[in-house]
Amino acid sequence: MKEGKLPFVIEAEEVDRLHKASGLSLEGFLATLVEPTRSLARAPISKFHVGAVGLGSSGRVFRGVNIEFVGLPLNNSIHAEQFLVANAARNGERRLQFLAVSAAPCGHCRQFLQELRGASDLRILIADSKAETHELSYFLPHRFGPQDLLEDDFPLLLEPQSNSLCLNPSPQEASDILEDATRHSAGHHEDHSVGSVDQSVQGMNGMTLAIANGQGHEERANFSDQQLLDAAPEAQKLIQLQSLALEAANHSYAPYTNCPSGLSMMTRKGNLYKGSYFESAAYNPSLPPLQAAVVAFVAEGGGQFDEILHVALVEKAGATVRQADTIKLVLDRISPKASFRVFEA
Ligand SMILES: [Zn+2]
Repeated sequence: MKEGKLPFVIEAEEVDRLHKASGLSLEGFLATLVEPTRSLARAPISKFHVGAVGLGSSGRVFRGVNIEFVGLPLNNSIHAEQFLVANAARNGERRLQFLAVSAAPCGHCRQFLQELRGASDLRILIADSKAETHELSYFLPHRFGPQDLLEDDFPLLLEPQSNSLCLNPSPQEASDILEDATRHSAGHHEDHSVGSVDQSVQGMNGMTLAIANGQGHEERANFSDQQLLDAAPEAQKLIQLQSLALEAANHSYAPYTNCPSGLSMMTRKGNLYKGSYFESAAYNPSLPPLQAAVVAFVAEGGGQFDEILHVALVEKAGATVRQADTIKLVLDRISPKASFRVFEA
């Protein structure tokens, strides 16, 4: 198998096999994966491709690349180390032991990595001609991080989170989803382009279902049994998206604001991806849920971002940190025809 063809997650047995075949030390072998990883970066703005390769305590290897979005502010970019951590998180890895990166980690990533248990001891190899390994504490002494804001035993990033969010759509909301799906199956997809979240239905249990409706007005119609039947698979997709976004929100790491969120997306081919919001003690390096879902999309072989057709977000009602408006703007740029629904838990 060519290294460039390796998946974004390499199973422990495969790592072992390739490592033995290389005849190198484990760290030396992992360093050889950096260059082929780097070639997978999507950096149309900087043209500076970054590759990161991480070894988890399970023995699996996670890869990460930088992703940039043309037409959006730079702070929407995903750094390779963030990609790698989000990739490890979505695969249930509990701890990272070693990272090999193609260039010295930037300040943003040194800060983001502080959210990991044992961050100071994380060994980092810069796989350039000098190939030096240092612990993260070497790159970021006098650190500010979770230890300044959280109790010692608070679950950190990659550790199990218990956000206990739930959604219980009322019959009215379920019927709204079906109506929306009926319109979609009838070929009115353009009516749901990302533009504004201007229609919301307050459920009896306090959950708000907001439906993106680019037309800016409430649309109601009567549907025949056949139309409802045709719409059923669409409605199922929406309910599936909602439940995936909820799952992602419940894995979100938001200890500083207590505003967890999660996002799911479906492509034209029907492939599903999800991403959880991850916070940083320094706020700005936080990884939004859309970016985390883009990590899953890229890691699982997704192509152009305009393949993304439906997006659902779950966030807390009345949250002080909300993702919906920014996600709408980002989606409008990367996949303008995607529908976008927000569910409040
Ligand atoms: Zn960085």
